[in-house]
Amino acid sequence: MTSTDSPDCLFCKIVAGDIPADVVASSDTAIAFRDIAPKAPVHVLVVPKEHYPDVSAFAATDTEGLAGVIGLADGVASELADGQYRLIFNTGPKAGQSVFHVHAHLLAGGELPGFA
Ligand code: 5GP
Repeated sequence: MTSTDSPDCLFCKIVAGDIPADVVASSDTAIAFRDIAPKAPVHVLVVPKEHYPDVSAFAATDTEGLAGVIGLADGVASELADGQYRLIFNTGPKAGQSVFHVHAHLLAGGELPGFA
């Protein structure tokens, strides 16, 4: 465990390899793994290895890390789909965030429904 781990955080445990996940890509600072309950043909979560509760805290502290997460997601979208994708950061419970380790949802691989 490093000083940036949060002991009760599910995604910190996945980063550490303590909980299994279907990892599709990784970099020095981020990993990408398939969502356990996919909402699209390709549904991958991209997370920084360091713990930040949400994208607001992440962006305020580590813009380079945030760029790394987006870059890894873009690469995965090209590998697993056709490079056309949606990237979502749910931020806060009202927006549907349920795991408080910042993660980008990468959705791709089909015709995604539009927003109202
Ligand atoms: P949120 O609701 O916080 O934006 O997204 C959390 C995501 O984590 C959900 O899409 C959920 O399906 C996914 N998830 C929850 N637990 C696990 C798990 O143990 N493994 C994986 N791979 N995904 C998980």
